[in-house]
Amino acid sequence: MYKKITPSITLVVACLAVSAVADLVQVRTVGNVDAELTKRVLALLSVEFFTEVKATPLILKDDQSVAAIPGLVAAAGAKSGDVSLVLYAGAAARDVTALFAGGAVLDVPALRDMVKSADAEAQARCVEKESVRLVAVSLGLSDCPNPQCALHKDRSVEQLLNKGRNPCPPCQRILHRILEVRGVSTKRDPPPELKEKLKK
Ligand SMILES: [Zn+2]
Repeated sequence: MYKKITPSITLVVACLAVSAVADLVQVRTVGNVDAELTKRVLALLSVEFFTEVKATPLILKDDQSVAAIPGLVAAAGAKSGDVSLVLYAGAAARDVTALFAGGAVLDVPALRDMVKSADAEAQARCVEKESVRLVAVSLGLSDCPNPQCALHKDRSVEQLLNKGRNPCPPCQRILHRILEVRGVSTKRDPPPELKEKLKK
């Protein structure tokens, strides 16, 4: 009897673990955020944070400002410890980026405007870099002194343009430890075709 019920209990536990992890990092969009850019951010975050990141719109009423976002994120069902990156394209926010308990707001048009000297591709990369930084900091990482690291908090537009989209190796090690504690496996199997090649 015990043996018979064991697999179903394992399955339930496995499902619970997956659903908890699935919500760990979420993207919310406010206003008309560039769809292609949102897709790029989702793809990058999914790779860096080893979890499928999806985007859902967050509706701000006309009389609600950026200050209403943390309350709306919580009301939308974000659990304690989850991180929501809000890609914002509403009326100009006071700051280009802002952290709140449970996530961060990135004013996308304001960031692009800040780096308007750069071409559209470099601007898009800046949005990706800041998305990675904001999610990582929201998960508990600190700003990194390495100017090449995505987690470097830039003091100038030039620094932002010059840094990378990925965390540096020491930041990656800390990030992976945090993710493992949260139940996210950071040890991915290589795709089967690559495995075959590695055997040869
Ligand atoms: Zn770093």
